[in-house]
Formats: sequence, C-alpha cells, structure tokens
Amino acid sequence: MQLLVATRNRDKFKEIIAILADLNLEVISAADRKGLPEIVEDALTVRDNAIKKAIETAKVAKMLTLADDTGLEVDMLNGEPGVRSARYASEEASYHENNRKLLAALHGVPLEKRSCRFRCVVAIADENGLVDTVEGICNGVIVEQERGGGGFGYDPLFIPDGQVKTFAELSLDVKNRISHRAKALQKAWAVLSRYVRERGG
Ligand code: IMP
Repeated sequence: MQLLVATRNRDKFKEIIAILADLNLEVISAADRKGLPEIVEDALTVRDNAIKKAIETAKVAKMLTLADDTGLEVDMLNGEPGVRSARYASEEASYHENNRKLLAALHGVPLEKRSCRFRCVVAIADENGLVDTVEGICNGVIVEQERGGGGFGYDPLFIPDGQVKTFAELSLDVKNRISHRAKALQKAWAVLSRYVRERGG
C-alpha cells in the first residue's frame, strides 16, 4: 500500500520518511505526483489546516494521504505566530525573515519569559474522507540569535526543553526523537498500521 504525504516541503518530507521508515507502506511525496491541488492553508487552526490538506489531497489522488501542519506558539506573544508561522513576516517570507521578525518581537525579553511550543497536527485521510488526527507538542524557549545550520524554519531559534542546543544545532536523529512532528508521527504510525492491518497492505 502507498501513503501520499501531502507536502512539497523537502525538509519536512525528509523528517517524515525517517520516522515512518519501518511501516509497511511505500511513502511518496506530493512533489513527485503530478496533478495534485495546491491547497490554500486558510483555516483558523493548524488542526483544521491539516485536515483540509489531507482530505482535499486524498480526494484528488484517490489514495491514503497524510498531511501535517505546524505552528510555533510563543507565550509572550499570546500564541503568535501560531497558525500564521509560515507567513509571519509576509505572505512569501523566507525562514530567515520570519526568524528576524520573531527576534524583533521578543527584543529585550529575558530568556525565562521566552517560553513557547511547536504544535504539530497530523491528519490522515483516504478517498472516503478523514480517517483520524493526532497531535504532538514540543515545549522550549526562543534564543536571542540564530544558532546552527541544520533543520529548517524556526529551528535555529528553538531550544527544546531538556536540551542546551537549538534544533538547528542538534542532529536530525535527535530532532526526530523529540520533536513535535516526531511525537505526532509516532501516534500516526499506530493509526496507519491499524489501517494497513484492517484494509490489507
Ligand atoms: P507548515 O504550515 O506546517 O509548513 O509550517 C509552518 C511554518 O512553521 C513553516 O514555514 C516553518 O517556518 C515552521 N515549522 C514547521 N515545522 C517546523 C520545524 O520542525 N522546525 C522549525 N520550524 C518549523
């Protein structure tokens, strides 16, 4: 059985295939499939965006589909950028522009007040509609300048609880054990293996 991952983001796809590696499923990226719709992420929550991406993609692709949506919620900023994390600085903002805006918004705020969390929701759908949703959260703090060359997005600014390095300084192996996406995908793993067992993979 095949699983379509409804993302064209290669960084994310790399993390997702590493975590779902030992599932009895052939995992393929939306970037490698022609004719799939470009889903507008205009929902008010990351959960609703993930559900929308999974359902609309599965309907067109006619196959089992997984979609994730992530938001970074900074307590000092009342949960911002949240669902707008990708478009925080502007509609077409680069990772670095978003990071710069976040650093400016937290300028002068001491480390102990820079608490935040990544919230990742994974939605799974097939051509008949939504199968399930799961969520993973990773708590941490935002540091005062970008650190490290790995990962993507806000990784150079985020130190997960229990670590002293940012996600961009930690290896992908470590990130994939403790991240919001890893936690959501571990739960998704259970949903998918049940699905494969019940429908015969
Ligand atoms: P998306 O809508 O799930 O693609 O995520 C929205 C934005 O959150 C992305 O553009 C990234 O800036 C950021 N993001 C998502 N996942 C991660 C992550 O694992 N680390 C750092 N930033 C992330």
